[in-house]
Amino acid sequence: MTNIRSQELWTRAQKVIPGGVNSPVRAMASVGLTPPFIKSAQGCRVMDVDGNKYIDCVGSWGPLILGHAHPEVVEAVTKAAEKGTSFGASTQAEVEFAEKLCASVPSLEQVRLVSSGTEATMSAIRLARGATGRNKIIKFEGCYHGHSDGLLVAAGSGLITLGIPSSPGVPEEMTSLTLNLPYNDLDAITQAFEQHSREIAAVIVEPVAGNMGVVPPAPGFLEGLRALCDKYGTILIFDEVITGFRLALGGAQEHFGITPDLTCLGKIIGGGLPVAAYGGKKDIMSQIAPCGPVYQAGTLSGNPLATAAGLAVLELLQGYGVYDQLEEKAARLFSGMLELFEEKGLDHTGNRVGSMFTVFFQKGPVTDYASAAKSDTELFARYYRALLAKGVYMAPSPFEATFVSLAHQEDDIDQILGVCNQALEEIT
Ligand code: PLP
Repeated sequence: MTNIRSQELWTRAQKVIPGGVNSPVRAMASVGLTPPFIKSAQGCRVMDVDGNKYIDCVGSWGPLILGHAHPEVVEAVTKAAEKGTSFGASTQAEVEFAEKLCASVPSLEQVRLVSSGTEATMSAIRLARGATGRNKIIKFEGCYHGHSDGLLVAAGSGLITLGIPSSPGVPEEMTSLTLNLPYNDLDAITQAFEQHSREIAAVIVEPVAGNMGVVPPAPGFLEGLRALCDKYGTILIFDEVITGFRLALGGAQEHFGITPDLTCLGKIIGGGLPVAAYGGKKDIMSQIAPCGPVYQAGTLSGNPLATAAGLAVLELLQGYGVYDQLEEKAARLFSGMLELFEEKGLDHTGNRVGSMFTVFFQKGPVTDYASAAKSDTELFARYYRALLAKGVYMAPSPFEATFVSLAHQEDDIDQILGVCNQALEEIT
């Protein structure tokens, strides 16, 4: 495999874009590679500027559940573009889109469209603070909710100390309002509530964590959060930017049968275009401007191209048996991978929920950030380099999800497993 053109672009990119990338993990620094520059994609395959083809298990970090360039999505976007790319005004498509979101996701009575997951979570937290008149929030170690100040928080020294900034440029005053607790640890959360009782505006959680690798909620964890939030008058926010429309039409909340007060969506609902959303009960949502005092706005919010793509995706996902197909494909790939790790005698643990999974390079169980962090990153990097060289494109970090799409066919899955087998042989 040659990568001359990617290397040339990489040199140019580093001169004019910080670190050569527009989002840090794309730099592939932790796996020691020059990132392939992608030229085009179709179905479950991406092609780089050197003409190398890869089977894609990243799906643009989650959005492309239908695969790349799905003809119906492309047609919808093209037709919309012909009529104008942005109006900054109300449209019929945004109403239809919001109606579909509310009809699909159990907690949504009203929804506000924004342009990124970061905006959705940031706005949901502002709304929760505005609605409760409280300032503190709880988040969980290893969960990522975008890059707004109050959510870029590292764990404090004790279990329930207030958070410290995890990036320069984030003032301590911002993160001091964020309690950063271990995922799946209801005792720590109960203690935090007892200590800060009626100061906590919101608990924000990935109902299945996808940003420390896939970590499912322990039995009773989401139920416990719901009960504590009810007891203390705190708003429960499910960040379903990854899980929304991935685990079911109604996301993780439908899958687990727990209804949050607010939900954040992104990724899949835009079919690869920049759209996200936050929503929930009408009495909370009516606090947002212009009907209420909590301010949030956006020039491109409800953009016609994004809503056209989103509508096309949601319609396709409503098709018969879609989630059964995803489950079948993902189960096949996941169990195939586990068998290979087993055969090679490698320490590993697999976590899967529906069409998202991670095989960790370590003996399990992986239930939180501390256990996820024990993965052998050096071995993963070697595995990753072998996979990419043989044409399988995964997320370049051991702490990410593998995403299966409807475009992955049996042959593709067999091909991925064949490559995994060779890669594992190379590194053991
Ligand atoms: N929430 C979750 C669970 C995410 O995984 C991400 C991004 O990966 C975000 C929020 C932020 O979304 P965006 O990158 O669109 O700002």
